[in-house]
Amino acid sequence: MPFTTMGLSDPLLRGVLASGYTTPTEIQFQAIPVVLSGRDLIGCAQTGTGKTAAFVLPILHRICGPDSPKKRVIRSLILTPTRELAVQIEQSIRNYGQFVSVRTLAIYGGVDIHKQLHALRRGVDIVVATPGRLMDHMRRNTVEFSSVEVFVLDEADRMFDMGFIHDVRKIIAALPQQRQTLLFSATIPPEVQQLAAGMQRDPMRIQIGQQHNPIETITQHVHAVMRQQKMDLLVHMLQNRPMFSVLVFSRTKHGADKISHKLEQAGIDAVAIHSDRSQAQRQRALDDFKQGKYQVMVATDIVARGIDVRGISHVINFDVPLFAQDYVHRIGRTGRASATGDAITFVAPDEQDQLRRIERFIGCKLRLENYEGFTCAPFAATLSRSEAQSRAQRQVARARKAAKRPHLIRRRSLASAR
Ligand code: AMP
Repeated sequence: MPFTTMGLSDPLLRGVLASGYTTPTEIQFQAIPVVLSGRDLIGCAQTGTGKTAAFVLPILHRICGPDSPKKRVIRSLILTPTRELAVQIEQSIRNYGQFVSVRTLAIYGGVDIHKQLHALRRGVDIVVATPGRLMDHMRRNTVEFSSVEVFVLDEADRMFDMGFIHDVRKIIAALPQQRQTLLFSATIPPEVQQLAAGMQRDPMRIQIGQQHNPIETITQHVHAVMRQQKMDLLVHMLQNRPMFSVLVFSRTKHGADKISHKLEQAGIDAVAIHSDRSQAQRQRALDDFKQGKYQVMVATDIVARGIDVRGISHVINFDVPLFAQDYVHRIGRTGRASATGDAITFVAPDEQDQLRRIERFIGCKLRLENYEGFTCAPFAATLSRSEAQSRAQRQVARARKAAKRPHLIRRRSLASAR
């Protein structure tokens, strides 16, 4: 079914076409009619499914209709957890809305607030914001929410993970009661369900794909490797395999800098992106990576969610993520919108427990592979905590039994001495 049959206005269809799309993705196909009808919505969809257009297009349709007021007032507020996502959503609005008259503003921290104040004074129709900076504006009385008709809470589960939920609740409390509310989340744990129940009326629920399963277009590999060999393995892979646009994840900022530095030393173009870098540096690194100036971008989890870089061929988890959800979000950076991609995870012996947690979360077993030349001999002998515990329990039981029959111990030790 093409976009043309979805009831969107002609200028928006032109915007969609100019962005290169003719057929809606599953979430767009299901969500656009619901949002156009004015109903509240819970969209449970993984990253890369095309969910941004699923809410941006009907919002633009509503805001840019013939009855729109002349005065620019905030008619839609989109809350998203990261700065990168805010920039990205705002860019999507600009792309899809290039043939309509709409003013949009991204409000996020780490950049000069005065430009945002100036834009707000001129008047905007849609605000895309991260919670922290928006709260800043609310305290300064520089945002006015009384005309908000559509509120979007994007990545709701992440708002909880990142500790933004108190701010989110305060922002919701400042919105008009009469409004349409759209909630999007990769997972719907009970706390998200509870939040939805308190802020929505009879929402339609749309679920795309299985809740926890990484998108099917991604091939997952897990390599057993000693921690001290990870850097060599990374360099070896990058130099010997066709890997053109690679996102490497590190658990720490220091680790990200170190990996990117070592890659540069090995002659591989790499850049690091994490929260110690200024917003301008982060954006520049991202833009340069998108344009292919760097083969590798090394990132911490701040960019795991939402970053949309088309054509990432490989995601490499240099460290196994601590939280199973992060695994899904990290690898979701490749294989976006039905392109295929590879996700590779380096697992050191002491990271096996984390791997098991991920397996439980995604509901499938990940086969450990040895990479030629990097065989991880002690790995197979390394036990997970539960295995180690039961082995220890068995040893204790054996020792207790033997204590009652000391002659057995002596006989055994004699046998092993031989
Ligand atoms: P999102 O899940 O919104 O971050 O979108 C993921 C990617 O899909 C982005 O690169 C979009 O530009 C792309 N995309 C959005 N809509 C479509 C569509 N109808 N067909 C193909 N790709 C799309």
